Amino acid sequence: MTSFDLLIRAPRAIMPDGERAVSIGVNAGRIARIGALDIPATAREIVTLGDDTVLLPGLVDSHVHICEPGNTDWEGFLTATRAAAAGGITTLVDMPLDSVPTTVTLEALAAKRSAADGQCHVDVGFWGGAIPSNLADLPKLHAAGVLGFKSFLCDTGTDDFPGISPEHMESVMRVVARLGSTFIVHAESAEASARMPTISTRRYADYLASRPKGIENLSIAEVIEAARTTGARAHILHLSSADALPMIASAIEDGVRLSVETCPHYLTLSAEEIGDGETAAKVGPPIREARNQERLWGGIAEGTLDMIVSDHSPCTPDMKALDTGDFGAAWGGISSLQLGLPVMWSAARQRGYALADIVRWMAERPAELAGLAHKGRLAVGGDADFAVFAPDAEFTVDPARLHHRHPVTPYAGKTLTGVVRETFLRGRRIEPFGRPRGAFIARDGVAAGETQELKRSA
Ligand SMILES: [Zn+2]
Ligand SMILES: [Zn+2]
Repeated sequence: MTSFDLLIRAPRAIMPDGERAVSIGVNAGRIARIGALDIPATAREIVTLGDDTVLLPGLVDSHVHICEPGNTDWEGFLTATRAAAAGGITTLVDMPLDSVPTTVTLEALAAKRSAADGQCHVDVGFWGGAIPSNLADLPKLHAAGVLGFKSFLCDTGTDDFPGISPEHMESVMRVVARLGSTFIVHAESAEASARMPTISTRRYADYLASRPKGIENLSIAEVIEAARTTGARAHILHLSSADALPMIASAIEDGVRLSVETCPHYLTLSAEEIGDGETAAKVGPPIREARNQERLWGGIAEGTLDMIVSDHSPCTPDMKALDTGDFGAAWGGISSLQLGLPVMWSAARQRGYALADIVRWMAERPAELAGLAHKGRLAVGGDADFAVFAPDAEFTVDPARLHHRHPVTPYAGKTLTGVVRETFLRGRRIEPFGRPRGAFIARDGVAAGETQELKRSA
């Protein structure tokens, strides 16, 4: 009889070809065998799931801002990855800004790695940053294993990660195309933003009016044409404006190497329901009207939009200006690592989607974007990363139960469907307050199908 380190018997599992009853045998952190539910086998540990839970591949969140080193009081590796694990996410990719230094040089990447060392409950990869001054650093960062390059086309609000011009974007894309890497972009136009007045207001409608859809639309058109000209693989981050969907679909049809993601907040919160002064919901680009949200769901239905990631973008409660409720002064960003899965499942099931759709949007496609062939699906040879999910259980969001460094959330008090019971990383249960076992994922490591365990520094 075959013997495994771990055997999971799951009457319901989301496989790449849909929901099935399976047994999954794990050896050395990888899925070694997938067989029938009652396959005879022995294992050091056997986990038998009930009919009320579904085995999902661990989710992959390719858009997470961990602000360590430098701004660890906003969010750090330990708290962010603990929240991720509690939310069913077993792999995340860190954004190159909001930490000090920003990840725009080899030295800065080394600083990120040493800050992450021994602190990660899930596997972590890094995006590098492309800013006006670091074109020569991109090949070095690529060689060091970053999964792709991120830029802003507007002002970021921080001097150590300036936005780039459309002209410079083309230069970056040429380098990215030559390297065979991926360019990911916060697409809001600096030029269009500059025409808008500076605001100081408690009214959400005023904030929304200060960042109209045109700011995104203009910028996305520029990304598309630069990707078309350079042949680079380009990805539009956090789409809020549904206006842009037809031109994105059209470009993809033309063969432009383009993809697009959106976030749980754009699909489940609407401008109409954000009260004045509720700055917990401030994010850029902004959450728009219900009508726009319906059209984003239309993009999901037709398949143009097929990636949903958190854009977990934390800060201190002070920075959210919760006391004054001033949308002009408040930091933009929503922390949702721990809640993305139940938020999305609650909304998606009401619209008739299945868990297989959630897995495609929140695991398979983000893993593909980041080039992680061994993540995001239940397949032999892949990493044995699992989320055990109770899809019919309900809970009410209590900020005090969030592992994010700061419990500020626009979802407070909402009743959601779907509870993550357990998470496994490479065949072992993640203990939220145990020793972190996350590994650093490098591009080269991925190509070799290997991950390198992080060791706690002495
Ligand atoms: Zn952004
Ligand atoms: Zn972001």
